[in-house]
Amino acid sequence: MDAAQAMDMIFSAEAVAQGHFYWGAFHSQHRVETHRVFRHPENVATIAMDIFESFESTPVDAVITPNFRSGIQLAHEVAGRFNAQVFAGDRVAGVIRFARGNIPAPSGHVLVVDDSIITGDSFSQTLRFLERIGATCIGIGVFVNRLPEEMKIEIPMRSIVSLEKTYPLVDISKGSGNCRLCLEWSQVQTELALIRGDPPSDLLRRRATFEPRIGYDQWDYDNEY
Ligand SMILES: [Zn+2]
Repeated sequence: MDAAQAMDMIFSAEAVAQGHFYWGAFHSQHRVETHRVFRHPENVATIAMDIFESFESTPVDAVITPNFRSGIQLAHEVAGRFNAQVFAGDRVAGVIRFARGNIPAPSGHVLVVDDSIITGDSFSQTLRFLERIGATCIGIGVFVNRLPEEMKIEIPMRSIVSLEKTYPLVDISKGSGNCRLCLEWSQVQTELALIRGDPPSDLLRRRATFEPRIGYDQWDYDNEY
């Protein structure tokens, strides 16, 4: 499938959220909510087939995803095509954890799959983990690639659509002034600090827009439906 078809999937699922998102020191005003795309099994099947075809000449014993929440559907579909086993980790307080006894065999050939690659942190943690257990990573397959160009990784990667220019990330470790949304947020905070009593609705709206939200998958559990 080509990038235009992938964008079509993203837009028809209304999967681009706007706001002030951060992944560690990387900030962006867009988050691609792949779970909206993956709600449609036919989308997952199409993406998985593409990733399978990109790696089918290499033996794959296991597919692993660092992302129990949003990568597992795709990892499962890809693993099925290789007739491989599937394993999933989860991000706990910033660290990707794999449950004891639920890890690929040492000396296995492993394909790493996730919904997206953003800062590459989940992947580097997963690659270090595979190295520790003695497994070999043969490649990476993702739907959305937002990794900044200067951070390219050395492992063969198939990403269906590259959005690092469309929805760029700003690295605030080089100064928070690099992020326009951080500047807006600090203005909102200053104005809020000056107000006694109820803030006006326009200030509350700006607060809702500019308050930083973590970009990594966090499920808000809401029982008030
Ligand atoms: Zn920011």
